[in-house]
Amino acid sequence: MNTRRDFLQKFTFSALALPLLSFTSSETIANFYKEPYEGPVLRVAIMGLGSYGTRVAEAMQSCKMAKLVGVISGTPSKITDWQAKYNIPAKNCYNYENFDAIKNNKDIDAVYVITPNSLHHDQVIRIAKAGKQVICEKPMAINAKEGQEMIDACTKAKVKLLVGYRMHFEPNTLEVIRMRNEGEFGKVLFFQGLSGFRIGDPTQWRLNKQLSGGGSMMDIGIYSINGARYMIGEDPIWVTAQETKTDPVKFKEGVDETIQFQLGFPGGAVASCLSTYSMSNLDRFFLNGDKGFAEMQPSTGYGPIKGRTHKGELTQPHVTHQTVQMDEMAAIILSGKTPIVAVDGQEALKDLKIIDAIYLAVKTGQKVQLKL
Ligand code: NAD
Repeated sequence: MNTRRDFLQKFTFSALALPLLSFTSSETIANFYKEPYEGPVLRVAIMGLGSYGTRVAEAMQSCKMAKLVGVISGTPSKITDWQAKYNIPAKNCYNYENFDAIKNNKDIDAVYVITPNSLHHDQVIRIAKAGKQVICEKPMAINAKEGQEMIDACTKAKVKLLVGYRMHFEPNTLEVIRMRNEGEFGKVLFFQGLSGFRIGDPTQWRLNKQLSGGGSMMDIGIYSINGARYMIGEDPIWVTAQETKTDPVKFKEGVDETIQFQLGFPGGAVASCLSTYSMSNLDRFFLNGDKGFAEMQPSTGYGPIKGRTHKGELTQPHVTHQTVQMDEMAAIILSGKTPIVAVDGQEALKDLKIIDAIYLAVKTGQKVQLKL
């Protein structure tokens, strides 16, 4: 089990000197996890008790500002298992039919939606209507139109909408972003993002367009899209894209197997990226400037994230991504903290607009202009 002790053991002494993930200007992340905490806690229910929901629940056991207190699931046996494992009271358990009643539950502050992609839209809107804070997995929705409707519903309900961009809190990633912001790479002109894995079971929801909204791009290619933006530090203004399909039986109409895409940025940088469901060992970012470079491999897996720059190895401590993500999101929701890289609905909407444009570019063979 991922206990708080396990989590802390991952910190090296060097972590004590790191200001990166400080929760206040004077605290380091290591100190935060060492010292007793008596402040407010975000009480979270997880919706969708699948493989990633399970990972988040385990990681949350080491959180200080976020606590798992409820579940929403369509499988009664999973609910009983989770109740026993995480000491969840029956009054905090819901299914997909009755979860609107969470509105009347004073013991739950937020719901974290971790279900198949196409379900996020309706589920997030229902949670917002119930007046609860929302955390939603990536991709936030299956297109920009639905993403905008989710943002509007949360704005109307006066609740926050955050999206599970765990890399935005990852120490080595933040170190590269710091270096870029301080000009250590000089003028950045190129990024390469390779995101992919060989997908197994052909019957899973990820290969069902109704549930996934697409193929590799929705699931894994989005890491290169989002990574291109946070590594270069700008939003793209155009996109071109090409699709390759070697297995039309497994990857049916609307489910992309492999897409190569290129993004153009206002400062002159270009990104060249690959998204695929048919090749492994693809988890690599490379950023090139006229004074230096950063390369990360693995760049977006659960870690440890490894990499180097022209100045040497990246040496930030490994953290359990989902633990830090949930503590940081609790700070955003409870005390209005501003993260170094945004994790809100507007941030996720930009990725959805780029995905829409990539699919359009594949279909038309044309360069598509972007206004993010
Ligand atoms: P999963 O298949 O393991 O779990 C999905 C859960 O949703 C299951 O418990 C399933 O029972 C439930 N569900 C509810 N309604 C369903 C329906 N109509 N059809 C199928 N399942 C239904 O999937 P997962 O890997 O946990 O992915 C869930 C979400 O989390 C996806 O949006 C995915 O992109 C995201 N995810 C994010 C990360 C990350 O690192 N941020 C990693 C993995 C998955």
